[in-house]
Amino acid sequence: MTKKRFNIVATVYDKRGRKLTEGSNSYTKSHPLQAKFAVQVGLDDKVFLHAEISALSKLKKHHKPYRIVVERYKENGNPGLARPCQVCEAAIESHGIKIVEWTK
Ligand SMILES: [Zn+2]
Repeated sequence: MTKKRFNIVATVYDKRGRKLTEGSNSYTKSHPLQAKFAVQVGLDDKVFLHAEISALSKLKKHHKPYRIVVERYKENGNPGLARPCQVCEAAIESHGIKIVEWTK
């Protein structure tokens, strides 16, 4: 994993702990799903893809997402605060995910 450009990673698991999808944040890419939830919570400027939304956008119809883990690591390798923002919270909720965890 390249931590230089993408330092936030979100992983979605099902109820049995199986990994479904993984996503990284981007400072250059946007995504329709990101834009949709940004508008919904009134933060239209948050257009660049967040790790959580990246992971959610890769879910297939048959997937049953249950838990999302958001991890952020600083350049020295220590974990940093990766609490999902309002836009991601709305997206996570709409996908029916029950448990949200993040590095602190
Ligand atoms: Zn976010």
